Amino acid sequence: MTMLDQMPDKISNPETTLEVSAETKPTFAVLGGGPAGLGAAWKLRTEANFEVTLHEGAGLLGGNAASFDIEGIRVDYGSHRLHPVTDPAIMQDIQGLLGDDLLLRPRHGRIRLKKSWIHFPLKPVDLATRLPIPFAGALFFDAATAKLRAKPTDDPTFETVLLGGLGRTMCESFYFPYVRKLWGREPKDLSTTLAYRRVSGSSLPKLMKKIFGQLPGLKSPTTGKFYYPRGGFGQICEALGDAAGKAGADIQLNNRVEQIELDGNRVKSITVRTSEGLSTSSPDLIWSTLPITTLIRAAGDKAPAEVQNAAKAIKYRGMILVYLVLDTDQFSEYDAHYFPESSIPMSRMSEPKNYSTAREPSGKTVLCAELPADSGDEHWGLSDDDLGEKMRDWIKAAGLDLTAKTLSTHTRRLPFAYPVYDRDYAGNFEIMDKWVEGLENVLTFGRQGLFAHDNTHHALAMAYGAVSCLSEDGVFDRAHWAELREEFETHVVED
Ligand SMILES: Cc1cc2nc3c(=O)[nH]c(=O)nc-3n(C[C@H](O)[C@H](O)[C@H](O)COP(=O)(O)OP(=O)(O)OC[C@H]3O[C@@H](n4cnc5c(N)ncnc54)[C@H](O)[C@@H]3O)c2cc1C
Repeated sequence: MTMLDQMPDKISNPETTLEVSAETKPTFAVLGGGPAGLGAAWKLRTEANFEVTLHEGAGLLGGNAASFDIEGIRVDYGSHRLHPVTDPAIMQDIQGLLGDDLLLRPRHGRIRLKKSWIHFPLKPVDLATRLPIPFAGALFFDAATAKLRAKPTDDPTFETVLLGGLGRTMCESFYFPYVRKLWGREPKDLSTTLAYRRVSGSSLPKLMKKIFGQLPGLKSPTTGKFYYPRGGFGQICEALGDAAGKAGADIQLNNRVEQIELDGNRVKSITVRTSEGLSTSSPDLIWSTLPITTLIRAAGDKAPAEVQNAAKAIKYRGMILVYLVLDTDQFSEYDAHYFPESSIPMSRMSEPKNYSTAREPSGKTVLCAELPADSGDEHWGLSDDDLGEKMRDWIKAAGLDLTAKTLSTHTRRLPFAYPVYDRDYAGNFEIMDKWVEGLENVLTFGRQGLFAHDNTHHALAMAYGAVSCLSEDGVFDRAHWAELREEFETHVVED
């Protein structure tokens, strides 16, 4: 018996009762076609058999986790890996969808510290042999005694947590410049959340566990490895989209949600911009993975002024991706180079061909620079060629040998790359979150919807969690969702 066979006249939740006649299937609109939206659309069809229309504003699926082609080479929106810590049920689904196309690859990156290149993720031998000895000594002495020297404070920030956990040498030479680059803010202006959720080695014991976990005997079979689809990271979302479509979900690309029409505490209709103009529909339930600020703006003046102000005050950090096509088979053996220093504006540079086993097309490769930026800043308005020239300068400034010619330069701009956990973010998010929670037929989740600096497997866990809250008779269990939300708070980002 399917869930629809058992469908009651009314679908209710603890806060509201949604009128649905026995003959009518409750309809879902899933907003956003990144991992969270696609995971939800797929599971809503396969586990719950609801009617689903997914509205994705872009012309391709995958959101920030998508892939696309440049001159025959598959590239991602910056370095993306599927981390082995992925929940086994999610991993099993991805393996089922991708089969042999899901590769297990060794991580092979390096980070520039004090003009030396160190393997990344950090390895004990490398740390002991490659860093200048006085610097390495200061690093470890400082980190070991940091807790003793930390000044007590009743107003902790990202800066105080990291100084207390890792000491000044490591903070000033690595974490603080990197954070200034990534978020465009001073460490003292950032919340403690960033330290706990973004820096998985935020104290010496945690860092040591990560580093020594690489030693033979201590490491698991996937330590130092990552999963990566042969067809680019976006193949995960493409496969989810295909599976959702085959299961009956209506996946709509180039469908930008522009307006939600409220009737009291319910969304009565949504309006999307398509290539043919505006189109309005009235789904019963709206599951949004859009940036929560976008959802609020779509409600216009129906959102209270306090909520609109919170949406204006909270910030997402943007990113420019610069893709340099070089006339050589391979630039280096490394998958990614990390640049914490402030003198080099890009935070990371990856070589997509090195992520999979792709060797084709021969005679060219792509380098992808991640350049954290905000609309309106010095880099945002530059042309592709100017950004390409700058990228070449930064590569040379890092001491890397760049003799290959540039065949072409391409760029992409992500307006919603990272949530900015400044010291006011929690209050602003809470105001928005409470208001959205009060909308009877709306759920917000995903990295953008919950303002969570999460990985793809976390976004999928949210989608699976949301569907698990729907019981067979169609009741959405808000109490269980609240528990899951607490669990999501414990997610720690993997690099
Ligand atoms: C540089 C970078 C590197 C990363 N590296 C990794 C990594 O190595 N491993 C990993 O697991 N994760 C990584 N991530 C994180 C990963 O990309 C995200 O966790 C994932 O994309 C979140 O999925 P989501 O569906 O919640 O959000 P998104 O991917 O942001 O999807 C939201 C979707 O909503 C759509 N949308 C927005 N507004 C509208 C609108 N008005 N109407 C319709 N649609 C709209 C967007 O187009 C988008 O498709 C990285 C992220 C970045 C920025």
